[in-house]
Amino acid sequence: MERLHYHRQLPVEEGFDVVVVGGGPSGVAAAVAAGRMGCKVALIEQTGCLGGIGTSGLVNVFMPFADSQSYGIPYRSLIPRGAVNLLVAGRCISADRMVQGSIRVMPCCFITGQAAGAAVALCCEQDVAAAELDPALLQSALRSQGAYIP
Ligand SMILES: Cc1cc2nc3c(=O)[nH]c(=O)nc-3n(C[C@H](O)[C@H](O)[C@H](O)COP(=O)(O)OP(=O)(O)OC[C@H]3O[C@@H](n4cnc5c(N)ncnc54)[C@H](O)[C@@H]3O)c2cc1C
Repeated sequence: MERLHYHRQLPVEEGFDVVVVGGGPSGVAAAVAAGRMGCKVALIEQTGCLGGIGTSGLVNVFMPFADSQSYGIPYRSLIPRGAVNLLVAGRCISADRMVQGSIRVMPCCFITGQAAGAAVALCCEQDVAAAELDPALLQSALRSQGAYIP
């Protein structure tokens, strides 16, 4: 079977504080969060639209969370082992299979995206690597943005 691959070369002529790869729910949330906290952000999306599977797959049901159905997501699940200045968000964060079934839906992808974007902005501000950021600082920043943290 023939496979098609995207190949596109774009000259980057400016410097950025944060590069977000992928404009799905998590990537968009990460880019907006980092931008709102003062970072200069480049958002790179390989297709012609933002929204990821939500847009290109016409997925329009945003699974809700009701009261008492929430759970915490540890910051460490966004940090790839051995990485220094890299965070992941959305459906590719580290989770057991059972948790992945819930964490992959779009509201959770927005949540981990916002957390990743805010974390990166704090890392820039504090001049620390992703794994060195104090999670309490991140929680405080997210709460001040109106996030609910159980
Ligand atoms: C069939 C199906 C039905 C679903 N139904 C629901 C539902 O009803 N409700 C719900 O809440 N969730 C649903 N989901 C889950 C949800 O849509 C996804 O888990 C969610 O969109 C993941 O968000 P994300 O930002 O992590 O990744 P994605 O939405 O996959 O976005 C990733 C983006 O990154 C881009 N990208 C990837 N690699 C590169 C690269 N190298 N360079 C540049 N860009 C790149 C992609 O083009 C894409 O736009 C469904 C998923 C599927 C597949």
